[in-house]
Amino acid sequence: MRRTKIIATLGPATDGIESQRQLLQAGVDLVRINFSHGDWAQHEGRVTEVREAAEEAGLYVAILGDLQGPKIRIQRFRNGPITLEEGQEFVLDSSLAADAGDERAVGVAYASLANDVSPGDTLLLDDGQIVLSIGAVAGPRIVCTVQVGGVLGDNKGINRQGGGLSAPALTDKDKEDLRRAARLDFDWIAVSFVRSAADLTEARQCLEDAGSHARIVAKIERTEAVDHLEAIIDASDAVMVARGDLAVETGYAGLTGLQKRIIRTTRRRHKVSITATQMMESMIHSQVPTRAEVSDVANAVMDGTDAVMLSAETAVGEFPVKAVAAMAEVCIGAETYHQSAAPMSRHRMEDRFGRVDEAVAMASMYTANHLDVQAIIALTESGSTPLWMSRVRSDIPIFALARHSETLRRVALYRGVYPIAFDAMHSDPQRLYQDVFETLIGMGRVSLGDLVILTKGDQEGVTGGTNALKILHVTGQ
Ligand code: PGA
Ligand code: MN
Repeated sequence: MRRTKIIATLGPATDGIESQRQLLQAGVDLVRINFSHGDWAQHEGRVTEVREAAEEAGLYVAILGDLQGPKIRIQRFRNGPITLEEGQEFVLDSSLAADAGDERAVGVAYASLANDVSPGDTLLLDDGQIVLSIGAVAGPRIVCTVQVGGVLGDNKGINRQGGGLSAPALTDKDKEDLRRAARLDFDWIAVSFVRSAADLTEARQCLEDAGSHARIVAKIERTEAVDHLEAIIDASDAVMVARGDLAVETGYAGLTGLQKRIIRTTRRRHKVSITATQMMESMIHSQVPTRAEVSDVANAVMDGTDAVMLSAETAVGEFPVKAVAAMAEVCIGAETYHQSAAPMSRHRMEDRFGRVDEAVAMASMYTANHLDVQAIIALTESGSTPLWMSRVRSDIPIFALARHSETLRRVALYRGVYPIAFDAMHSDPQRLYQDVFETLIGMGRVSLGDLVILTKGDQEGVTGGTNALKILHVTGQ
C-alpha cells in the first residue's frame, strides 16, 4: 500500500465524471482547485463531479482550494507577445494603461511596486524566464535593463529576487474565494505568498467567520516565509513547499536543501507537508516521466513529505491519468527502499509529551515499530491521534476509523493513514473490537490472526479523548 499521498490539480483536462473516476482509480487522494484559473461555475462543477466519483468508489477524497494570493503581474501588450533582447531598456510602469504594453514598456497592476524596489534589484518575470535589473525608479516608472531576454506575453508574474514585496497575503478576491469555498465545504485551504504567522491567523479567522472547519495550508514561496518558517508552521495545519515561486525568489541552487529543511522542520512540529510544482512536468506532453522527475518524486518521498502534488500535469496535461499512475508507482518504489533502509524511528525519543492522546499515539508507534504488528487502528474523532502517529516513520498502515466524513477526508492527506468509515457510537461496547475487525476483514485490510494495535478513548465521541492502547490478535466471531 502506498503511504505518500497524491494531490492532483483539476482543470480542463480532467473535466467529466469518467476522467474523475480514472484519476481516483489511479490513486488520487486529494484534488486541488486552483483559484488562479477558471471561475466559480467551473470550480463548482469540478467539486460536484469529484464528490460523485468518490462516493461511487467508496473513497474519502479531500478537496483543497488554493487561493491566488497577491501574485504581482505585468499587464497586457497591445500587439501580442514581445521579444526582449539582452541589454535593452524595458520599463515597468504602473501609470500605463492595462493594454498599452509594447517593446519599451508594460503596465503593472500593483501600484506599490515602485515603492518596494530600488536600483540594483533584480526582477524575475514569468517564473524567472526573463531577468531584469533595475537601473532607476522614477515615480511609477521602474526603468530596467534586460539581463536575460526572451518572449514575454500578457499577465506574466513578477518576483523580486530576495523577496521584500509588500503585498499582504490575502487579497479581496482571496477573501471572497475563501467564503465560497467554505460554503462548498472544502477540506483544506492553501494560502499563497504567506509572509508571517499573522497571514494565517487572518485566514483562519475568515474561515471561522464563514463557519468552515477547513484546515489551512501555508504555501512557502516567499523569502520572508523561509525566515519565519517555525512560526508559520505553528500557525498552520500543513505547509506546501511551493517550489515554483520559491525557487524564483530564493534562487534555484538552494531549493533542494530548503525543501529538505522545510519538510523536516514541519514533521518535527507535528504538522503536514506537501511538495509541489514541476514534479512530473514533462508529462504534460509525454507519456513517461524523465529520470530526473522520477528521482525528484522519490527524493521528496525519502525526505518524508506527506504528499506530492501535480499541477499542470493533470489540470491541462495530455496524460493526467498516466501522470498520477507514474507518480504512484514512483512513491511505492521509494517507500519500499526507504523503509527497509531504516525501519526503526527515533522520532521524538527525547521529547516530553503534552497530552494523553499524544502519548498514546507515540507509545503505539514505538510498540508497533518494535513488535511484529500488521496494522495500527485508531478510533478517532478529529484525526489528531493518527496525525501524531503518522509523524513517526513506519511501514505499518495506520487505519483511521472515524464516524465524521469531514475527519475521514482530512486524514486523507496524512502519510500512511487510511480513512475508514466506522461509527463506534453505534457499536455495543462488548462487541466493539469484533465490529472493528469485521469491518477491516471485510475490506481486506487485516486477516484473522494478525497482531494489531488499537487506540481509543474510554468515552467514544470525545475529541482528544484517546487514552487507551490495546494489543490484540484479530479474531473472528
Ligand atoms: P502556484 O503555487 O501553482 O499557485 O504558483 C505553487 C508554486 O508556486 O510552486
Ligand atoms: Mn506559487
